[in-house]
Amino acid sequence: VSAPEFTLTILGSGGALPVPGKYPSSQYLQYRNQGYLIDAGEGVQVQLARFGISHSRIDHIFITHLHGDHYLGLMGLLFSMHLTRRLSALHIHCHPGLEDIILLQLKMARSVLSYRIHFNPLQEGVSGIIFENDDLTVSTFPLRHRVPCSGFLFREKLLPWKIIKDKMPDQMRLQDIALLKQGKDVVDDLGNIVYRADAHATPPPPPRSYAYCSDTDFDPAVAASVKGVTLLYHEATFAESESVRARETFHSTAREAATIARMAGAGKLLIGHISARYKGTEVLLEEARAVFPETEVALDGHSHKVEPQPLRQTAE
Ligand SMILES: [Zn+2]
Ligand SMILES: [Zn+2]
Repeated sequence: VSAPEFTLTILGSGGALPVPGKYPSSQYLQYRNQGYLIDAGEGVQVQLARFGISHSRIDHIFITHLHGDHYLGLMGLLFSMHLTRRLSALHIHCHPGLEDIILLQLKMARSVLSYRIHFNPLQEGVSGIIFENDDLTVSTFPLRHRVPCSGFLFREKLLPWKIIKDKMPDQMRLQDIALLKQGKDVVDDLGNIVYRADAHATPPPPPRSYAYCSDTDFDPAVAASVKGVTLLYHEATFAESESVRARETFHSTAREAATIARMAGAGKLLIGHISARYKGTEVLLEEARAVFPETEVALDGHSHKVEPQPLRQTAE
């Protein structure tokens, strides 16, 4: 039995200006059979369809901020959910203002959606848990940008201990098994250990996690917010030669994204939101890898398993 599926699919990896093959920011995170949409740039529903992802799996949408390249695809998706007769409630986690934008468009279209939308307002500059279910805890943390902007951290809940089947005595009771699955020893009335957890079960792997950081100025506080993350996405709008421009526009360079990954002790880094001015991504990738070797460029349609990196073979 392997760990539950925990996979990130890049729907859009581009910066503010779309270019052929690169849609604006949008990602689909899957844990077991549940999908989570993170940002919803223009074309998000086209990309979902292209990569064979049904929007009926999505009950939660997380929007970082109200720059158009991060949410302009949302309205189309909401209407499509309506046209396909969605019934279950949809939860949108976003900064205040998006609710007004959506409600105004619905009003002008004289539309009453087939489903309810619950808005969960994010507070500027505030971190904390915003959602949890049996699988995941989702928390938010502040990013430094020109408008209120928040990153998201998806952390898997601790999986149960796995009972070693051929070491399970016949007389073991269900309540004993339940204790062992929590990693607790089974003791008798006198406090003597009857079954040791570590003898009859194997502990779960450390919880996996995914963090999404777009858009943001270079901010070491972000590294603290995503400490020890398994997979980190961090925007890298500019190369180092445009670091002045990065400061002016509250964006990061590839090297800065890698610095955050290194400070956080991340397992792996994905960089994206690369400015359309760069025809190739080699320079940015090189600059990032000089600081954090486990870096890849996010590309539309590519999927990444959220899992610990295999230990590197050291050369020589
Ligand atoms: Zn952006
Ligand atoms: Zn922005």
